[in-house]
Amino acid sequence: MQRTLGRQERKSKNRNVYYSKRCPTCVAARRYEDQEPHSDRRSHQCPDHRVSPKERLNMLLGRDRTIFVKKIGLASFLSLEEPAKQRLQDQINILVNYWRAAAIKSQAFAAYYILDLLDAHRELPLIIFSQDFFYACIQLVHGDTITSSNSKLPRESMIRCYQEYTEHCRASLLTNVPAHKHALAYLAEQSATILVNSITENFEHRTIHFFCLKLQNAAQDLTKKNAETTACYIYDSMNDPTSPPEWPSSIDRSDLFNSAMDDLRQLFANVPKPINSRPTVPMLYERKLPTGGREC
Ligand SMILES: [Zn+2]
Repeated sequence: MQRTLGRQERKSKNRNVYYSKRCPTCVAARRYEDQEPHSDRRSHQCPDHRVSPKERLNMLLGRDRTIFVKKIGLASFLSLEEPAKQRLQDQINILVNYWRAAAIKSQAFAAYYILDLLDAHRELPLIIFSQDFFYACIQLVHGDTITSSNSKLPRESMIRCYQEYTEHCRASLLTNVPAHKHALAYLAEQSATILVNSITENFEHRTIHFFCLKLQNAAQDLTKKNAETTACYIYDSMNDPTSPPEWPSSIDRSDLFNSAMDDLRQLFANVPKPINSRPTVPMLYERKLPTGGREC
């Protein structure tokens, strides 16, 4: 639930409110509202929303489904006569090679940009977790200008950083293939998903693991189970310091322990907090603890 709310908040904060294109269906029906900006019927803002293939699958089969993939070579898959078959295969191979090059170059620059901000102790903007950010990276590695009208995009700083990146890394530009723009838009969406999955979705688990290691370093005699329980406690108490959860009674709270916990709280003082304060970590650990009991 917390993750779903977090995803919704991230999407809403990153939403481009300055669409250059207005939904033609709504404009034709004279119902387009500036408060609900959208560019076409694919948007959920559109009253006449057109469901995507993924949404249709969810409606027909539900979200809780298993997907099986059967691998089949391109040559066997295509039921075309020659020379059309070879021509299509060649085009697909060209697209795959181009897509891979665009993915490597744009993601390498995105990583450089993010590391550059961290190096300068600057806050990472939320927009880096969006398709707009990665599409802008793709445009830069082509030597193009950033066309997105999303005002949340740090356009100037990205351009400045790209110039520095090309000088440091001697990165060559990618040649634009206009016919494959739709594939690049999909690549940008995929790149944003990869970043979200590798950072925000794993944040809770990694943070608790980090706390465990720090606590075990500070108090050598602490068992792994007690370190996990305490790590859960610290994580939850950071979410809402005004009403901290109950201290796990099975663990002695020594001065050394208190100071280790204060250090961790200080270290994470500026990290954004979850958007609701309902403790989810103890529930996670309920499933992991061998006794099945809740100790947080
Ligand atoms: Zn519309």
